[in-house]
Amino acid sequence: MKKRVLMVGAGLSGAVIGRKLAEAGHSVVAVDERSHIAGNCYTERDGETDVMVHVYGPHIFHTDDEEVWQYVNTFERFLPFVNRVKTTSGGRVYLLPINLHTINQFFGKTLRPDEAREFIASLADRNLGEPKTFEEQALKFVGKQLYDAFLRGYTIKQWGCDPSELPASILKRLPVRFNYDDNYFFHRFQGMPENGYTKMVEKILDHELIEVRLNSRFEKSDASAFDHVFFSGPLDGYFDFELGRLGYRTLDFERFSYDGDYQGCAVMNYGDVDVPYTRITEHKHFSPWERHEKSICYREYSRACGAEDIPYYPIRLADEQALLARYIERANQEANVTFVGRLGTYRYLDMDVTIREALDTADAYVRLSSQACKMPAFFVSP
Ligand SMILES: Cc1cc2nc3c(=O)[nH]c(=O)nc-3n(C[C@H](O)[C@H](O)[C@H](O)COP(=O)(O)OP(=O)(O)OC[C@H]3O[C@@H](n4cnc5c(N)ncnc54)[C@H](O)[C@@H]3O)c2cc1C
Repeated sequence: MKKRVLMVGAGLSGAVIGRKLAEAGHSVVAVDERSHIAGNCYTERDGETDVMVHVYGPHIFHTDDEEVWQYVNTFERFLPFVNRVKTTSGGRVYLLPINLHTINQFFGKTLRPDEAREFIASLADRNLGEPKTFEEQALKFVGKQLYDAFLRGYTIKQWGCDPSELPASILKRLPVRFNYDDNYFFHRFQGMPENGYTKMVEKILDHELIEVRLNSRFEKSDASAFDHVFFSGPLDGYFDFELGRLGYRTLDFERFSYDGDYQGCAVMNYGDVDVPYTRITEHKHFSPWERHEKSICYREYSRACGAEDIPYYPIRLADEQALLARYIERANQEANVTFVGRLGTYRYLDMDVTIREALDTADAYVRLSSQACKMPAFFVSP
């Protein structure tokens, strides 16, 4: 039987699930409290310069998931883009991730890969046992100089606390490459949508069985008109924060224009703790196939997320995990609602993972509803 389904949020999660359900013959309404679709991936052209701006921060598409790569390319042509991040530290510019070039430049050496590996191992703090904190893990991996130059300041600014207060698990792998590869991502597929992410999401939502309602905030009473709700808003927000607020970091973007090329690359990080921002993004470099004389840049600042701010990065430390467990228990008592996406499941999700989960969630709903079975509150556990 065909169902009437509500998507709360017209970001990637809501759009991809909605599209699959519409293709299966269900009728879909997608509401978003914002005045636009595409959620945090939203891009728009700047009126004065015509530069494509990543309004909620830089978004680079990268994945190893071939099906997801084909999926996005069905809706929008992706053009080659390789993310090559630079960082300013101690008054000099280096390449990230830390690689052979960074090491040789930083230490004024001409090491070959094996020599660099030995050299970095010799810098590691040998007095540390099993690392418990981010700081100990970093000191064990790369030693004090590289930690201070590239990891410490950035982490303090990003997370608002000292790396000695963060768990070691945040830094899982050795953050160093012993070759000259400065491609920020390891994935097989990487690119940028030719006409921006908003265009791509617009095409995903373009189906006769999908109705989009913008500037429309979900109220629980709306649910009664639908067979099922997919909620991609904040999990704690769904329950009016009745158990307290899940911790997030938010971002402030200080936008400025520049007559020319401001920094010569898309992303420049700032590793020094006395520089208050974490990075500067120069948006025209995300579309290297376009030509623009003028430039639009964002200085990015990270801070604790307040009640009126946009939640960006879930914190997920011990206190938040405990609160999350209580919200999960609450959510599991709800009928006919499934929590999806980065806010609904309180996880940092790259776009490719968001799409993969959305496709799988929609498949599950189509299958379960055809068998008259109930869709769980979480298809992917938070
Ligand atoms: C700064 C930053 C940079 C990123 N960079 C990358 C990158 O380079 N590469 C990458 O792959 N991924 C990146 N991501 C991740 C990417 O943004 C997410 O994967 C994606 O946005 C998740 O989509 P979503 O639909 O789950 O959530 P969202 O995009 O947040 O969409 C949720 C939507 O729900 C709406 N909503 C919420 N509550 C309600 C309500 N009560 N009523 C109505 N509407 C509601 C919101 O307005 C929003 O539009 C980045 C994320 C951040 C924060």
